Amino acid sequence: MEVIFHPDYMLHKHRGAHPERPERLEAILERLELEGLAGNISTPEPATEDILTSVHSKDYVKYMREHGRGYLDGGDTYMGENTYDIALLSAGGAFLSSSRVKEGIASMALLRPPGHHAGAYYGGGFCYFNNIAIAAACSKMKKVAILDIDGHHGNGTSDIFYTSSDVLFISTHHYGIYPGTGDSMAIGEGQGEGYNVNIPFPTGAGDSSLEYAWDVLIEPILRQYEPRVLLVSLGTDGHYADGMTGLSLSSRAYIDICGRTIDLAREICKGRAAFFLEGGYHLGSLGEVIAGTVAYTEGREVKMEWTDEYDNRCIGKGAVERTRHRLKDHWDLP
Ligand SMILES: [Zn+2]
Repeated sequence: MEVIFHPDYMLHKHRGAHPERPERLEAILERLELEGLAGNISTPEPATEDILTSVHSKDYVKYMREHGRGYLDGGDTYMGENTYDIALLSAGGAFLSSSRVKEGIASMALLRPPGHHAGAYYGGGFCYFNNIAIAAACSKMKKVAILDIDGHHGNGTSDIFYTSSDVLFISTHHYGIYPGTGDSMAIGEGQGEGYNVNIPFPTGAGDSSLEYAWDVLIEPILRQYEPRVLLVSLGTDGHYADGMTGLSLSSRAYIDICGRTIDLAREICKGRAAFFLEGGYHLGSLGEVIAGTVAYTEGREVKMEWTDEYDNRCIGKGAVERTRHRLKDHWDLP
């Protein structure tokens, strides 16, 4: 698995103490090095305007370019002097990953800033340009599946592809927190109806809930959709060690679902799988999950520290059932 990273991703800083900080990437790289997994790193070029406008409006790109210092939203998402340029490098990393995936090379894009809360004409939630949406659009493949397992709903990605059947979007997230979207009734519109799948977990949902969602919804839908490429928004803020959401996933569950995704991609789309870093603010579990996923592609395991199981009663079963019921006319579900 190729790791995509640019040293300038470390230079992006919000104002004051902020969870989305350079130390996140330092922790991941340190862990990869410790495990002997940092040998295959590629460095991207900045995204061109054409790449950005594959997803974002021209007006939004201009607005960002000319924004200058200050907040994009209420105080979460700061534009510093170099933010625009580093966001271009992050989007460039997504573009590089889309080129690699077309060649059948799986990748782990360690991007900062993250992207899944950015829509066609808005940013927010620490996001400026939508990296994974850019990768989906630039892959130029007709059927792309995006699985978003960040603890928050990927509202930007969802909005961008809401009326399209060319991109299937599936998101598991803690429902009721930021950004407030992603309930089970939202299934896409027009041509996109049935191609937007939300699994809005309640507080406390963790390992057994995610496994259940995979078995009865995610895997069956992915198999029926027959994507040509499988992209993953990987955020570890649904981890029990991470205070940013109320989900209780363990490192084992995260690495397990990433491994299942890689195996499924090998089976149904020639191994075309790419992972994109979104959130994840507890440094130890973040490094552990990323390293564990990269190791998996090499047939190895890493030693895990955060493996407690807080949800073995399928706390999220009701949420999965509601989504399953809502989508029963669109997919053949077990
Ligand atoms: Zn998140």
